Amino acid sequence: MAVDSNLSSPLGPPACEKDAKALCFIEEMTRNADAVQENLLAEILRRNADTEYLRRFNLCGATDRDTFKSKLPIITYEDLQPEIQRIADGDRSPILSAHPISEFLTSSGTSAGERKLMPTIREELDRRQLLYSLLMPVMNLYVPGLDKGKGLYFLFVKSETKTPGGLPARPVLTSYYKSDHFRSRPYDPYNVYTSPNEAILCPDSFQSMYTQMLCGLLDRLSVLRVGAVFASGLLRAIRFLQLHWSRFANDIQLGYLDPEITNRSIRQCLSGILKPDPNLAEFIRHACESENWEGIVTRIWPNTKYLDVIVTGAMAQYIPTLEFYSGGLPMACTMYASSECYFGLNLNPMSKPSEVSYTIMPNMAYFEFIPLGGSKAVELVDVKIGKEYELVVTTYAGLCRYRVGDILRVTGFHNSAPQFHFVRRKNVLLSIDSDKTDESELQKAVENASRLLLKECGTRVAEYTSYADTSTIPGHYVLYWELLVMDGARQPSQETLSRCCLEMEESLNSVYRQCRVADSSVGPLEIRVVRNGTFEELMDYAISRGASINQYKVPRCVNFTPIVELLDSRVVSVQFSPSLPHWMPEMRRR
Ligand code: AMP
Repeated sequence: MAVDSNLSSPLGPPACEKDAKALCFIEEMTRNADAVQENLLAEILRRNADTEYLRRFNLCGATDRDTFKSKLPIITYEDLQPEIQRIADGDRSPILSAHPISEFLTSSGTSAGERKLMPTIREELDRRQLLYSLLMPVMNLYVPGLDKGKGLYFLFVKSETKTPGGLPARPVLTSYYKSDHFRSRPYDPYNVYTSPNEAILCPDSFQSMYTQMLCGLLDRLSVLRVGAVFASGLLRAIRFLQLHWSRFANDIQLGYLDPEITNRSIRQCLSGILKPDPNLAEFIRHACESENWEGIVTRIWPNTKYLDVIVTGAMAQYIPTLEFYSGGLPMACTMYASSECYFGLNLNPMSKPSEVSYTIMPNMAYFEFIPLGGSKAVELVDVKIGKEYELVVTTYAGLCRYRVGDILRVTGFHNSAPQFHFVRRKNVLLSIDSDKTDESELQKAVENASRLLLKECGTRVAEYTSYADTSTIPGHYVLYWELLVMDGARQPSQETLSRCCLEMEESLNSVYRQCRVADSSVGPLEIRVVRNGTFEELMDYAISRGASINQYKVPRCVNFTPIVELLDSRVVSVQFSPSLPHWMPEMRRR
């Protein structure tokens, strides 16, 4: 299709007129980031002026940023819990938002062991939809021909609960997939999925996954991209295929859907799609019965151009495993979002995972940034390249100056909108004494030890979590590892695993090593290898307690007793660090 030259974009030549409009919108928003932010805050404050929350701070009609910032405190979820509870209990008065709270979105971040309830209003769906509509126009700049095939995406809903006052409480993606925005989306050749809506919307996760995988297999030559929301979800799908490939092959051989799939709408939908195809059945058996699953994604779906999956933040640890299964396909991290608010998108989605930056879209919410170690929040356009900040949002739904809990580093700007590298979630710590280990430090240490393991015996760390074990004196770090042994003849030895313990200690920060070496206040690090499938059980456990499959992230640190007990009951071997890591006194200054 010829694209009107007036609509061409500095981001690159758009694939079609619709894309051109989307790219223009990105340009417009990012060029005018400061004005967009100023107007957006004024609009929120005008609209919500009579809410109980804003009246409390005597803004007296002011809608400017300075007054807002001088009168309202920066808050956390805990500060807002009484108001949220009242709304959940059925108080319909305008407490946080002038527009009625339409539902609660359940965040995977917890507050004292409970999932957080994020209030939202109906129009937020439009805002989320708007951000989604920008993703393919950007992707089309980098990967041509995506209108010539389909996406195999593993997307799930979770059955929802109701608050005592009758409002739905469900994960943001469940809310989105169940909305008309998703279900009645107009046909877009660039955004065709192999999974039928019936499968995505089936609340039984086994039947949903089974059907989505089966449809992906049936349509395998059309698949141009394979994805899930987070990397862990995609790996779960690959594991599902590993467990059930012979059932898929049988269904395809006979043209008859497995009787365990009882959902009526799925059966009805598949009856038009599933026909006997002995050749495809034979192909699947041949591809899957091999011991070697390296590159399985490209063997089954040979036209796949990239994986569409988030591998930033806590998901970075899955990169090597995904590379193994996909034969090194590029991984695109397209967007950065949360239950509180969708934040922005990656304008260079084919960049290496370690270089991914998200451009915050100034029309999504009012954003402020607290410099790490500082207290005064700065505006979106005033952040400095190279500096780290904690993200604070003010949303249309009534969150005001709310700490999201994410730490971001500025990597650059697109026009006047900053681009951020996701550094970590705040306060994910292991601590025994004065040592403090955050998520990215732990990740680095696991990566280093994992490299050693790979070199010595061709084994990868497929999953990990940690635990500060204070039942010993001194306490020590425990790492639970699930391994991906790629060569059965080279099982990792006890000796190699204990060197992995030491390698991790060497990689941890100097305060940790000082505690180990000089103060003896931290004991030798321990690795407990758990049997295969344990982390899946962990996820099933979390899901049984109400977590969402789409949003589930393996906790990098566990301290909830039933989870620790579950992990301990699956341990197959235990190793400790055999000696002290290096530490030099002059490093004390850190
Ligand atoms: P939830 O509210 O459960 O959807 O979780 C939202 C959180 O997931 C965010 O605040 C981030 O900590 C994390 N997250 C979301 N998108 C990304 C991303 N693209 N990269 C890294 N972490 C992300």
